Amino acid sequence: MNVRFLGTAAAEGFPALWCECPICAKAAQNGGKDLRRRASCLIDADTLVDFGPDVFWQTREFHMDLRKIRRILVTHPHEDHLNPVDLIWRKGPWFSQVERRIKVFGSGMVFGRIMAECGALDGIYRLEDLKIQPVELRNAECVSDDDLTILPLEANHAPGKFAQLFLLERGGKSLLIGNDSGWFPESTWELLRGKNVTMISLDCTMGLHCPDVDQGHMGVHTVLRAVERLKRIGAAGPETRFFVTHFSHNGGNLHADLEEFFAPHGIEVAYDGLEVQL
Ligand SMILES: [Zn+2]
Ligand SMILES: [Zn+2]
Ligand SMILES: [Zn+2]
Repeated sequence: MNVRFLGTAAAEGFPALWCECPICAKAAQNGGKDLRRRASCLIDADTLVDFGPDVFWQTREFHMDLRKIRRILVTHPHEDHLNPVDLIWRKGPWFSQVERRIKVFGSGMVFGRIMAECGALDGIYRLEDLKIQPVELRNAECVSDDDLTILPLEANHAPGKFAQLFLLERGGKSLLIGNDSGWFPESTWELLRGKNVTMISLDCTMGLHCPDVDQGHMGVHTVLRAVERLKRIGAAGPETRFFVTHFSHNGGNLHADLEEFFAPHGIEVAYDGLEVQL
């Protein structure tokens, strides 16, 4: 399994679009790993996790070919993870020429937003016009699509938005993606017990500035506690690689600050374009 981080920022981007704070000024000056697009991940060449407002530039910058995408998994309907408007451009014959169908996986809330914003409710663009096959995901109910297995897990983020983590398996490797998760609900810990996941990517939105936040998002101390519990319940083993992602300027940290904090704990700090071969 090949995993590529296409975006590692929280909702407002990094530097935040309108922000006048010193962290954003420094990030803009540094460039490189301190420039972060909205959260998204490419798995092999055919699967996207989250589809936010930076997709156009992510395709150009990271040589991602949307023609090869077979499925999009959406963790929740927040704007930084789902930008339905960019699905409209699948409509032929004017916007594009598309023959192949894709599957979109997500909760009912995800499809509610897609249908509202693609005009599906007005009958302007139906999902079938966009060659999209919807697959609704329910917590703890495993779904298989070709050789990919998807286990949706309940996250602790934005009540009523049905945010999910995904445990993906393919070719004997597994990946846990938690973009906006907060401290996991007990049901999620239980489902992860004994899984010995190959790679785990955790929410670190609140960073060093709010280290103990665990509701909605996580800070750095909460991440350490989560890693410790994942190891204790056998969700992770000695070979598991841990990453942190989804950073906000509110976390008060630049990439180098996060690396300094996490390196002694064997946790890697994701950045846009980072590729991990499992
Ligand atoms: Zn987010
Ligand atoms: Zn800022
Ligand atoms: Zn969110």
